[in-house]
Amino acid sequence: MGRRTAWVGTSWKMNKGPAEAVVAARALAELSIPPHVQPFVVPPFTSLKDVCSILRDKNILVGAQNMHWENEGAWTGEVSPPMVKECGAALVELGHSERRTYFGETDQTVNLKVLAALKYGLKPLICIGDTQEEYAFNVTNEVLARQVKIALHGVKAHEFENILLAYEPVWAIGEKGRPAEADFVQNCHEQVRQTLIELAGEETAERIPVLYGGSVNLENAPHYAALPDVDGVFVGRAAWPVAGFKAIIESI
Ligand code: PEP
Repeated sequence: MGRRTAWVGTSWKMNKGPAEAVVAARALAELSIPPHVQPFVVPPFTSLKDVCSILRDKNILVGAQNMHWENEGAWTGEVSPPMVKECGAALVELGHSERRTYFGETDQTVNLKVLAALKYGLKPLICIGDTQEEYAFNVTNEVLARQVKIALHGVKAHEFENILLAYEPVWAIGEKGRPAEADFVQNCHEQVRQTLIELAGEETAERIPVLYGGSVNLENAPHYAALPDVDGVFVGRAAWPVAGFKAIIESI
């Protein structure tokens, strides 16, 4: 890594109600952040506005966990880009494997959401990853290239600098996941970087952060973050307690 900022983020997923989220955000606001680290936190919608206002002047970005691509209308249960923006969010997580697996998210809907996020000045944090089956059949690189190409279809040259990607093997995520081998991760990130070079040119592609996520913990985080094509880590369980998030930031 070295040449790039180390991103360290966590999505709280469907954890922490409004009161607990405020307590956690206040604790996050007290952290001292090393200059080479860019942290971010992705709370549930119910606390997005509060967490954004608590962290407004801090060097911790806040994001939404999902978003619709339309800016208003008859879309019961959905939240629009201007709504996310008005809450004060800087980024929006799109295409997480749980959204793809359980809520019908596809590469095409991720693409619509990416374009909408960019239009509203939100950084899309695009999650990509191979399933256990794809991994077993050795088509990981093809899957990642397809996901990246479709997600970024129609992105204009000057917009690439606002993109964030997270490689999260589906087989590595969650309680039943197993952390990916460092060599494998580096190889996948190198391939993703090649796809980004094809799409955006070498200079721009070098500047697009590509994070690793999937059973990241205090022990393995610094190893992933040290890989040449890994620009930081996206963490679930291990970073839900603020002390866990802090320890990972300090380990990088
Ligand atoms: C995730 O779901 O994006 C994730 C990385 O989760 P965990 O760290 O808990 O495996």
